[in-house]
Amino acid sequence: MLRKKELLRLMNIDISWYKNNVPLNNNDLRYRDLELEATNCDQCILSESRNKVVFGKGDKKSKIFIIGEAPGKDEDLNGEPFIGRAGKLLTEILQSIQLQRSDVYITNTIKCRPPENRNPNSDEISSCSHFLDKEIELISPKVIILLGRVAAETILNTTKSMSELRGKIHYYKDTKIPTLVFYHPAYLLRSPYKKREVWEDILYMKREIHVS
Ligand code: URA
Repeated sequence: MLRKKELLRLMNIDISWYKNNVPLNNNDLRYRDLELEATNCDQCILSESRNKVVFGKGDKKSKIFIIGEAPGKDEDLNGEPFIGRAGKLLTEILQSIQLQRSDVYITNTIKCRPPENRNPNSDEISSCSHFLDKEIELISPKVIILLGRVAAETILNTTKSMSELRGKIHYYKDTKIPTLVFYHPAYLLRSPYKKREVWEDILYMKREIHVS
């Protein structure tokens, strides 16, 4: 964009009327390129059945980075993460600690919907993982929240159960970014009695990591 504007200026073309001229910094540009790359990705078989690639959304300067599993039907149709029933519950959970969705960054372990919402397989996860790694690098959050087993197993490279993983601080790869595991909102819709444990996990996060 900067180069385009510079070219227009050299050609004596008046662009002063163009309001949206806040310069993009290097991270913004890298983020935009990454999103564009994901939008055109055909590295796994899910690209054949998807409607839309569902890239992350939210505050790109947020301290809180939330990772779900994979887009579902609503997300696939609209190209936005967590907008179906599970997404509404996620919004309510955030609001319970005075956070709006626009205050956090939300993305998924993989960016395309698996047919019939089956679990993503290891080929699909590994061909998509560089997108997530780069999102985390560019946003550089203070805490990562993993929603559910697929995100937890993938990001923490573990086969431990959800009950073993929640309520503890883990770290993202070899960084010092504290990473917590919460039950997935879709699971909470099926097992509402587990909501109390998510509330405990949120209080634990506030106490131990001092975000939000
Ligand atoms: N479940 C997820 O894990 N991600 C979404 O975006 C929607 C539902």
